[in-house]
Amino acid sequence: MLIPLDHRSPLPLYRQIQDFLSGEIRSGALPAHTRLPATRNLAQSLGVNRLTITTAYEGLAADGLVYGRQGSGTYVAPLSEAVTGPTAPVGASQDWPLWQQELLSHTWLPAQYELDRMSAALDRPDAISFAAGMGDSSLFPIDDFRRAVTDILRRDGRAALSYGERAGFAPLRATIARIVTERGIRALPQHILVTSGSQQGLSLVARLLLRPGDVALVESPTYAGAIDLFRSLDVRLAGVPVDAQGMQVDRLEALLTTHHPRLIYTMPTYQNPTGTCLSTARRRQLIDLAGRYNVPILEDEFAGDLHYEDAAPLPLAALDPGGRVIYMGTFSKMLMPGLRLGFLVAVGPVYERLLAAKRVDDLSSSSLIQRALEAYITVGRYQAHLRRACQLYGHRRDTMAEALRRYLPAGADWTTPAGGLFIWLRLPGGLTGQALAPVAAGEGVGFAPGELFFPGGRSQPYVRLNFAEHPPERIEEGVRRLGRAVVRCLSTGSGERQSGDVLHNEMPAI
Ligand code: PMP
Repeated sequence: MLIPLDHRSPLPLYRQIQDFLSGEIRSGALPAHTRLPATRNLAQSLGVNRLTITTAYEGLAADGLVYGRQGSGTYVAPLSEAVTGPTAPVGASQDWPLWQQELLSHTWLPAQYELDRMSAALDRPDAISFAAGMGDSSLFPIDDFRRAVTDILRRDGRAALSYGERAGFAPLRATIARIVTERGIRALPQHILVTSGSQQGLSLVARLLLRPGDVALVESPTYAGAIDLFRSLDVRLAGVPVDAQGMQVDRLEALLTTHHPRLIYTMPTYQNPTGTCLSTARRRQLIDLAGRYNVPILEDEFAGDLHYEDAAPLPLAALDPGGRVIYMGTFSKMLMPGLRLGFLVAVGPVYERLLAAKRVDDLSSSSLIQRALEAYITVGRYQAHLRRACQLYGHRRDTMAEALRRYLPAGADWTTPAGGLFIWLRLPGGLTGQALAPVAAGEGVGFAPGELFFPGGRSQPYVRLNFAEHPPERIEEGVRRLGRAVVRCLSTGSGERQSGDVLHNEMPAI
């Protein structure tokens, strides 16, 4: 649980924690009978003394908001009208049936909830958040897409509003096959499976190939949504360190022999969050190792076409001698995430199994949206949109790098990525992302703290900054605020520090 703390505030820390939790309980965000984190764990994750947490919990108990169970922790009390006040949500004062209470005893929540919570804490009207994982919504081709939907409804009528083909609308699969062929992948429409976003692709692959207790190898750091998904399936994660050339493939063999993973999940191109691109030599080595150890690779190329220098190296799937790599793409970053359209490219028996899993999962992706997307792409608008996005985002990337040079104190470090959406910033002085977040929120700027991206979840001196979403003036102003927050943290000594020289390739335990 991330609780924004302001170390400069005259309000004592225990009171800030108590007030935050009190708000969460009264609003219903923490429902009755939810178990609060153990005092030791919360103290550790917030970097405060355990007594601070105990005092906060005691305050909540005195207000009738929590109750203790002998030996098992502190729980949210059912809200009485006296404590809910006029803002209580409908049903918040109910005592839930036992089966619902049992659900509440699971305290695990996706790490991405923390991101939502932190965004909510950024409540200034002029706040600038670099936390998002998408491009600039002002580029969304709304008029073109509206025309495409209208044309499709006129052209296809009822077919557009019926259940679609399981594997996806055939002409769209043919179009996707053409798009990935341009990336060097030899794919036919029958190798394409349209998914409801690539998050569904990831989920289908993980549920098909992994059982609880299995190990998956992931980059460390990696995409937070993948960590959440694997965790939800009780899959254990082993992290492969990342350096400037992407996953350190020479560390892989040792992990393959020790952990016997059942899947390698990787983003070789403009990795999320580090922006690194795996070198071609490492790509070949990775495929070779996966073949020798009989481990499937899931390649997540979520932003492969967003390049600001030369085109990205060939994807792993293009180097695959056959059936080793499942390739995953999405229209979320290159076009619009609200389409909820992504795709898998798979050859061999795995394709049919994924198709069956897709059927079980959601029957099919939206027929109307697939048809509209296909119409939009075929008239050449997609390529034009991509060119525009690359031009704009490349300029914004440079603006952010320049602003970081200007406003961040010495010791801050980053590499300007050749594509994608993110700059991965190493904070100076061992300052952690989590410690910086509340001070930065006070300055009116947000980001995704590095902690979210490490399978081990420990404090990390990193933050992920999205450079694509905002126009240059806002980037400049946001980075100026960020610089101020960093300087303030360093000069007041506030915030938790990461001791020692921890690199972003620190390997978490599985
Ligand atoms: N992979 C990566 C690396 C991502 O960043 C995201 C979105 N944040 C996804 C997959 C899933 O995106 P979508 O479901 O919108 O395609």
